[in-house]
Amino acid sequence: MTKYHLVKGTRDLLPPETAIWSAVEETAKSVFGLYGYQEIRTPILEHTELFVRTVGESTDIVGKEMYTFDDPKERSLTLRPENTAPVARAFLEAGLHAGPLPVKLYYIGPQFRREKPQKGRYRQFHQIGAELLGAASAYADGELLLMLNRFLRELGFSELEVLLNTVGDAASRAAYSTALREFLAPHTESLSADSRRRLDVNPLRILDTKNPLERELLKGSPALKDYLTEGARAHFATVREVLDRFGVRYRVSEQLVRGLDYYTDTVFEIVSKDLGAQDALVGGGRYDQLVSDLGGPRVPSLGFAIGEDRLIDVLPAAFRVKAAPEAPTLVAARDETIALDTLVQAERHRDQGLAADLAIGLSKKAVIKRSVRARQGVTAVGYPPEEFVVKDAKTGAELRLSLGEYVNWLVKGGKDTDEG
Ligand code: AMP
Repeated sequence: MTKYHLVKGTRDLLPPETAIWSAVEETAKSVFGLYGYQEIRTPILEHTELFVRTVGESTDIVGKEMYTFDDPKERSLTLRPENTAPVARAFLEAGLHAGPLPVKLYYIGPQFRREKPQKGRYRQFHQIGAELLGAASAYADGELLLMLNRFLRELGFSELEVLLNTVGDAASRAAYSTALREFLAPHTESLSADSRRRLDVNPLRILDTKNPLERELLKGSPALKDYLTEGARAHFATVREVLDRFGVRYRVSEQLVRGLDYYTDTVFEIVSKDLGAQDALVGGGRYDQLVSDLGGPRVPSLGFAIGEDRLIDVLPAAFRVKAAPEAPTLVAARDETIALDTLVQAERHRDQGLAADLAIGLSKKAVIKRSVRARQGVTAVGYPPEEFVVKDAKTGAELRLSLGEYVNWLVKGGKDTDEG
């Protein structure tokens, strides 16, 4: 045993599980490609202010979960806790806002948050996300959700439902924030320190509270939907129209405000009842002000992030089976003297695009044991030409097989107690 261990909240991903991860990622790439998205890879390290400015000081992420440290020569640096702000930064930095819009980008990679580790919640976790920059139309929101829906269908999910809401445009939010502040003003004493802070910075975040007393208090609070402007209402209606037209299952959830400060208008989440306490699988929405908050022009945008770890936790079994790689053929040599010949045979398999494992010096018994366990075919080189005699289960006829044929017969379900 080693005395070196994983950092708390991180995981090693090992084969064969990594093959499932790759297959999920390949599926994402191909589905997103159908909608014209291309991959972006941004650094894992960013300047801390990027997240403070965009994700928001009132959020748990910025308030307590970021891995932040001082680099002797740089300003404060942070391991990215999410990837929308980095993508928006990269978009501006590369001057893509000056080119043809929209720009369609997707990313796949690790994110870091110092949360309390538990099932489905890690400190290094992985997201598959897409960002559509420079699209104001509500049909863009609808199309993004169609893409997400198509991806999940490709993986074999059929039960999932989108939770949908609107947090309104800037004007709706300003009006609602004022109303919420007025409503909560007589109750500030009974609010938690977190909520009191949010009352100043972003009162909408208080709606996210898990505190039972605050939940009770909020029952009588003004409703965001009563403060939506005409434009925000129309936008939301169009998004719903698209989902209805394509039969995407969704439910409007007025409680849904999403944890990050930068959202405007459409917000959505997908939860899975198979995930337990950490049930959020996907989160996303529109962020019309993020790019201008970073000092750029106004570029209405939207996107989503899928939690890949959780996605794979609840992945339908049929996709797993399809994604599992076939075992390579075992090219087995009786001993070293014919090793070169055997290597030639193994390379011949690979020339034809077939996977092969080379094994030198295995006994007949070892070849059988190993290949039956791995359910792999065998090409046996240099073993004595003895034949294995077996009975065909259907016809009862006697079959005389070579070592390779015998193993293949066993792998296909033949039963024999005689292991040579
Ligand atoms: P968020 O950026 O918080 O909206 O997260 C988007 C998705 O990432 C969530 O719906 C989760 O599936 C996933 N996610 C967020 N935090 C974690 C975490 N600590 N561990 C695993 N998955 C996470």
